[in-house]
Amino acid sequence: MLDVNQVRADFPILQQEMYPGVPLVFLDSAASSQKPTAVLQAMEHYYRALNANVHRGVYRISEEATHAFELARQKVANFINAPDAAQIIFVRNATEGFNLVAYSWGEANIQAGDEILLTEMEHHANLVPWQMLAQRKGAVVRYLPFTPDGLLDLSNLDELLTERTKLFSFTAVSNVFGTINPARRLIAAAKAVGAVTMVDAAQSAPHMVVNVQELDCDFLAFSGHKMCGPTGIGILYGKRHLLEAMPPFMGGGDMIRRVTLEGATWNDIPWKFEAGTPAIAEGIGLGAAVDYLTNLGMDNVHAYEQFLTSYALEALSEVPGLKVWGPPAAQKGGVAAFTLDNLHPHDIAELLDKDGIAVRAGHHCAMPLHKKLGLSATTRASFYVHTTTAEIDALVASLQRVRAVFRL
Ligand code: PMP
Repeated sequence: MLDVNQVRADFPILQQEMYPGVPLVFLDSAASSQKPTAVLQAMEHYYRALNANVHRGVYRISEEATHAFELARQKVANFINAPDAAQIIFVRNATEGFNLVAYSWGEANIQAGDEILLTEMEHHANLVPWQMLAQRKGAVVRYLPFTPDGLLDLSNLDELLTERTKLFSFTAVSNVFGTINPARRLIAAAKAVGAVTMVDAAQSAPHMVVNVQELDCDFLAFSGHKMCGPTGIGILYGKRHLLEAMPPFMGGGDMIRRVTLEGATWNDIPWKFEAGTPAIAEGIGLGAAVDYLTNLGMDNVHAYEQFLTSYALEALSEVPGLKVWGPPAAQKGGVAAFTLDNLHPHDIAELLDKDGIAVRAGHHCAMPLHKKLGLSATTRASFYVHTTTAEIDALVASLQRVRAVFRL
């Protein structure tokens, strides 16, 4: 088990008070996580000691910067067990990963009448790029439904996943229900009909072991900022033969081998997909985040969050009128999206803030999911390695005060 007090000392922001005597209780890691000192120091070290463009200079600090940046790529490859660092493309965030595949792979491989299968619980990042692709191509987007418990309904999988399906993209963990989806089973089913698979790992890579070779997915995307790293850097993993066959997404410096006035030839992967000066400090920061999480141990991270989730669901069940959406703790990551009677989630979140508690209120970029539940919004508390049971108790006590304010 993690020593949460030791972990908390690594996150300087948690030492802050929101109001005099009111500490920050940060329960919004699913939106963006806090950053440990090691990540802040790695980025500061780059700017103070190594700051230079990468892949270009022949002078010492440029070479050192290039080494640090490419080492970060190798760290990410090890983190998700990618066969080769060349299969790790640095993008801005998970969203850009989906857009890159939807354009680069999608333009070349999707035709009129083809089907793209998604699920009803997807984040907009894994919905809109495919809807746009389908519109451009005259393809059809279909959706695997979810049950009232927030689990994927696999009863009609055979009807939805057919030889017409060219791509199946789904989230490994829902950012609203917290559902841990059966990724391996879904990928195996997609392979059986010859569909290409893409996994949204934005909510799984920060919280549990992700092993792309074991999953056998074709593409997988996630964001650095949800896993203790900085904003502005994300990862697209792809199988080598697919990445090599794909045309570039954007053109510019670094992604070319040779340019003439008549045209250009492309660099090798991963650089073929990394036009222009990359997010160097952010890449190095993400490498430090990967080191940080690896030192904690992803199995320990997951086990601790399972413990917190069970604790939270039990504690929240004591609040009359409160409903947590999604499956029971055993099938759920550290996310509790809830409604409280018919109070507006924004009112709840504002009152919680008075007690220093940071939660998210809204549709969490999953409007179709909320629509199906007949809701416009939920309040979401999400947990990470620094969350304590005392913070969950503080959330529950504050929700009881919310009830009193509204005379429930
Ligand atoms: N997918 C899921 C499941 C997410 O939770 C998020 C972030 N909320 C994203 C994709 C998109 O991440 P980003 O905004 O960093 O691109």
